[in-house]
Order: sequence, then C-alpha cells, then structure tokens
Amino acid sequence: MLEFEKLLDESVKVHGHLCAGQVLGVRMSMLGLREIGIADSRGADRKNLIVFVEIDRCATDAIQSVTGCSLGKRTMKFADYGKMAASFLNLKTGRAVRVLAIEESRQKAREYFPEIENRYEAQLNAYKIMPENELFEISEVSIKIRPEDMPGRPIGRVTCAMCGEYVQDSREVKREGLDLCRACSGGGYYDTPFFSPSVMQKMHNGFGVKSKLWIESDGGPFFGKGKMLLLKAIDKHGSISHAAKEVNISYRKAWSYIKAMEERFGVSLVECKAGGKNGGGASLTPEIRDFLARYDRIEKEVRGIADERFREIFGL
Ligand SMILES: [Zn+2]
Ligand SMILES: [Zn+2]
Repeated sequence: MLEFEKLLDESVKVHGHLCAGQVLGVRMSMLGLREIGIADSRGADRKNLIVFVEIDRCATDAIQSVTGCSLGKRTMKFADYGKMAASFLNLKTGRAVRVLAIEESRQKAREYFPEIENRYEAQLNAYKIMPENELFEISEVSIKIRPEDMPGRPIGRVTCAMCGEYVQDSREVKREGLDLCRACSGGGYYDTPFFSPSVMQKMHNGFGVKSKLWIESDGGPFFGKGKMLLLKAIDKHGSISHAAKEVNISYRKAWSYIKAMEERFGVSLVECKAGGKNGGGASLTPEIRDFLARYDRIEKEVRGIADERFREIFGL
C-alpha cells in the first residue's frame, strides 16, 4: 500500500488533481508492470518497456507517471480506441498483457462506501481498496512492434512531394509512386487554404461547389430535377396539362413519365378527379408527397454537406 500511495502522490502532482482516473491508472500500471516482470520501470528497466494506452483521459497521465513511459521517448504509444485499457510490453522477454478497467466496477465501487453520498468520491475511495480482479480484466496479448516504432534514432527521412515537409520513421504514404505526408494524402487532421488571400479577394460572391442529384435504377437515371418539377407543377396547377405546359413537355410525355414512375414506385402518383381525361383536375397522392418531401430533404442535405466539405477541403 505504501508504494501505491507514493505513486499516486507523484501522479497527482503531474496530473494536477486527484481523481478516480489517477487511482485507476496507478493501479492499472502496477498490475501491468508486475505481470510482465518489470520491477524498476523508471530505472534499470526503462529501456525494456513500451506501454500502449487506448484513451486520452486522466488515467493516461497516471500511467505515464508510474511507468516513466512517454510519447516523447517513444515508449508510450497511443491507440485512439476510446477504451479504458492499456497494454504493457516487456521488450526483453516479449511478454505483453492488456489490462482493461471493468465497467461494472463503477457500480460495485459505490457498494463499498454506501455512506458516502457523493458518488464520485465513493468511487475514488473504493478504487483504492478494491481487489484487482474486481477492477481489471487482464489478458495475455502478443504485440509486434515495428522497427520504425522503436525508441532510438529515426529510421528514414523523406520529403513530401506535395508540401515539401520532412517525414520521419516511414510515416509517408506512397501514392502513384510519390511519397506524401499523411496530411497531403488526405488523411490529415488539418486542411490548409488552397487559394491565396489575394486570389480569394478577386473571387466574387457566387463562388462555391455545385452538386446534382438524381436517382438511378437498373443503371439508368430514373428520377431527377425534371420529373420533380413536373410533379410540383401538377401540385401547383391541379392539372396535368397545365403542368406539362409549364415544364415545356407535351401532355403525352407528361403522362408517360407519370405511368413509368407509378410502375417503378408501385404506387399511384396522381388522383384524377371527375371531368374527363383533359378537363378534370389532378392532385398528387399522399404517397408521392411523402416521396417528394424525402427527395427535398436528401437534396438539401447533400448540398449542405458538399458546401461544408468544399470549404473545409479548400480551406475557405
Ligand atoms: Zn483527472
Ligand atoms: Zn505533405
């Protein structure tokens, strides 16, 4: 317990506050190191250990503090899984274990201190004394570490063919025979503006990206802007012949479009009211109104996404 208190003290200093994550991280590290036979991780064994953390939260600071491993030393690797787990690898023996915090331990922790009202505080205190097997699940894992991920001098250094920046340790991406950095290959967390500010100033307002949407069926276009306008015109005029005139097609053509759509959709599009073939009114059925509303929605959403991505990718 003495060692635990000392380690917790140290990690709280590094992290800035005492929290349940510190307690879990310290205990997780102690368990992991013991399992892989590392006794002095910050001294004699410091070159024999690599830790893999799976979350960027409080406990990770505790793991760094206890093990002495860090990103800068390349002895801590971050796998962004969003899981409260870490793996400990002994480079000398090759033995590795993965320690996972058990989700149910949160609930169990409260049962340890039912008298403490603050749930978080109960948890923090319980984590200090709960047996390891209630807190963690431990599993033997095999970890293959690539030479370019090992601590020590950088392996290789190439320039990105696009931005000209240097890329170390085989992090480049090969694309059509060119070496690209990850950012330039499209996998970056940032985008840089493509157009210079002076070019941007010269561009007038309507500058943007356009997209066109249509529905295909059996490899051919089947519903798009033209048919949509026809249907909306029928809705507006209450008449197929007026609608056909508005969208500039013959009555016969309009009628054949409607028939074709009814066949594909398997529903009626238009309800004809009394008054004969040409004389009577026509209105859209609820089914096709539903379809049009959805089509409007997908058009709007695609347009929104296209605009947003255009601005992001070109850094506008
Ligand atoms: Zn914290
Ligand atoms: Zn680049």
